[in-house]
Amino acid sequence: MAENQLYVVATPIGNLADITIRAQEVLEMVDIIAAEDTRHTKRLLNHLGIQKPLLAAHDHNEAFAAGTIVEKLQSGMNVALVSDAGTPLIADPGFHVAKEVADAGFDVIPVPGACAVITALCAAALPTDRFIFDGFLPAKTSGRKQYFASVKNEERTLVVYESPHRILESLKDLQNELGEDKEIVVARELTKTFETFLRGTVVSILATMEADSNQQRGEFVVMIRGALAKKKLDVPQDAIDLVVLLSEELPMKKAAALAAKHTGFKKNQLYQLALEQKE
Ligand code: SAM
Repeated sequence: MAENQLYVVATPIGNLADITIRAQEVLEMVDIIAAEDTRHTKRLLNHLGIQKPLLAAHDHNEAFAAGTIVEKLQSGMNVALVSDAGTPLIADPGFHVAKEVADAGFDVIPVPGACAVITALCAAALPTDRFIFDGFLPAKTSGRKQYFASVKNEERTLVVYESPHRILESLKDLQNELGEDKEIVVARELTKTFETFLRGTVVSILATMEADSNQQRGEFVVMIRGALAKKKLDVPQDAIDLVVLLSEELPMKKAAALAAKHTGFKKNQLYQLALEQKE
């Protein structure tokens, strides 16, 4: 491994076995580790049997820490940056450090691993071809209402972080703004003993969580299914089903043309929607 580099190292979000081999090698190799909370990181390092000097780099001292890290790199050291859990800079400190280090002409090397957004998405069973990550929901109801109103017509899957103190209130605001039938997935305690995925309408998930206080504990990722594309709303499901049915006997293009004659909808639109449904 080369000298004078900053390694941005992902650490587990619950299950310590999710540390990667490369993360361990890098943490062993570097001269110093910049950590969001040095006591927290010390526990991980003890678990891994690694002893290293630690430097605090959190929200309140990041500008100062960035300067110190650049000095360490200038003196020939390798530095790792970690946060309390998951991938640094993803709803975590590290942006100023990475920026100053890059601006000073040093390499910033990613060492990928656990990240709650991706961990939640990959098992949510929601469309993931396109998604938006919006960080933490606003802390106040007024902010959340504004946020949900602004994403009403968003077609991509939305992903947000939420704390246990606000999860019920936030889901209620979501229900008020986006409707009780809005489809969501709440991922809780990912990679930990009580990992749970609640999938369904917001009204049904609120009922489950209100009935069982255990479901209100821990860490949360909330995923919101995007609004149905406008073109889909225009064409009734029956018409799309007809094309899919006909396509069992005919090429898809012919099936769409026949269904277009029968329903009066556009051939190309029916073709596209039936194709999407089949996939
Ligand atoms: N940098 C981290 C990452 O890579 O995901 C996120 C840090 S952010 C300060 C912490 C938030 O991430 C939590 O409040 C929660 O919303 C989400 N989170 C982190 N670990 C989680 C887990 N094991 N299960 C569910 N959500 C988690």
